[in-house]
Amino acid sequence: MGDTTKAVVETLDPITKRLLPSDITKGTLVPLKTILELRDYLSLCQVYVTRAPQKSVSSIFEVAKRISGNDGARNLPHLRRCIKPADLPPHLKNAFVNEGNGRTIHMAKSQWLYIVLGPKTEFSYQELEKELRVVEGMNDEVWLGEVPVPLLAPTSQSQALMWSHEFWQSIYRKNNPLGPHPSTIARTETFVARDAAIWMALAQQTAKKAQKAGMGEPIGAVIIKRTTPGRSDSGKAKKAGKGSDSQKEANDEKEAGSEGFSEGSDATNSDGESMASPSADITNDMKQLNISQSTTQPQSHSKSKVEAKEKTQIVAIAGDARWHKHGCFGETGNPMAHAALRAISMVAQKLVRSENRSESEEQIMEFECFQDKPLLHDEQLVFDADHPSPDGYLCHDLELYLTHEPCTMCSMGILHSRMGKVVFCRRMPLTGGMTSEDRARDVCGNTGACEGSCGGGQGLGLHWRKELNWTLLGWEWEADKSDALPLDPHIHA
Ligand SMILES: [Zn+2]
Repeated sequence: MGDTTKAVVETLDPITKRLLPSDITKGTLVPLKTILELRDYLSLCQVYVTRAPQKSVSSIFEVAKRISGNDGARNLPHLRRCIKPADLPPHLKNAFVNEGNGRTIHMAKSQWLYIVLGPKTEFSYQELEKELRVVEGMNDEVWLGEVPVPLLAPTSQSQALMWSHEFWQSIYRKNNPLGPHPSTIARTETFVARDAAIWMALAQQTAKKAQKAGMGEPIGAVIIKRTTPGRSDSGKAKKAGKGSDSQKEANDEKEAGSEGFSEGSDATNSDGESMASPSADITNDMKQLNISQSTTQPQSHSKSKVEAKEKTQIVAIAGDARWHKHGCFGETGNPMAHAALRAISMVAQKLVRSENRSESEEQIMEFECFQDKPLLHDEQLVFDADHPSPDGYLCHDLELYLTHEPCTMCSMGILHSRMGKVVFCRRMPLTGGMTSEDRARDVCGNTGACEGSCGGGQGLGLHWRKELNWTLLGWEWEADKSDALPLDPHIHA
């Protein structure tokens, strides 16, 4: 474990410290692409360009506007309207210099510019040529070219540079009409990146324990609550985003209800997990950690000290349990017992528990078919601790870490739970619901037998789709060292 990770671990609650594996693999967060980013990011359209002396530019604009009925280039604000011959992409420069009076106007001292007139579909070539011919300064040297350009704005600086080289000088305006605002992703990533490795390691460990215990596939989920009080960039954050974005940001900054666990524990890890049954074992753990239902409340003297810092607290942890008492669920196991759903359900139970505490201690909240009662010892430990801020809607603003890309059903469950962020490690190209990339058929390997039934078609991109009334930020976690939890590609995680 690196020094940075060690420092972060120091700030964690005792339960997390207790559960953490000793080996935490570093990695990189890769933001998920949205459906629109993949579908539209390189839609091209043909535009007419011409060249004219600098002094004639405004007259040229007027001609373009008059013929196209509006300012045809208005919908292409990411393209530089006028560029010098030297700024043309190399292949256009080579082509245009050999046309008409190209050699003269490509000379260093030339005052001529290349001008985007607008989408080809909005002009009649003959009319355009006729009108340009009478513009002062053109000297009958009317030249009209046709170039393909990206229809939509670039979503990053590097994309703009690439397009400038391949198509036409493009401008990145630090905006992304096709996905989350880049500044939101960048800002969120700075704090998620600090501890993502920890939560992912915990999810991986839970996955292995679930498999070892025979209750499910090696799939694990961890839900955490992050509190970032008084972030220094909070003013900027509020201004930067719009709509649900800024709403989420604002909620990010809302102070959480309680402080969680008191300090003081060892950091050892229990290997060789078995199904949690002896409650005495749990009670012992709780004692050792100096926590219990009644002592999870903040201790006033330490509160002010900790409050200034960002805090993360584990809210739920769950392994896959599709094979637990699976008798009637056939070959796929119990779909309601997928790790993500179990974890979300545990959060729900904590909320109910918190609301009902004064009325009754004996609530039966687990439904047999959901298998959302803690099964692993680790699950029980986290489950028994109070929810750090039991006042929001289900998983509003929480973060979910998964060993695998969740299936379509779980992805929708995550969306409906109002989860704020999701990070998963292994992509499930045939069955996952989060990514937007085409679902490859070649992953399967079983040519013939699965024809037509194992994917293909477009990914669903269920993290950010504007037509759904909730969006969440999503990342893929690329571990530096392969900590593979291989899964049959047909499995729905
Ligand atoms: Zn699932």
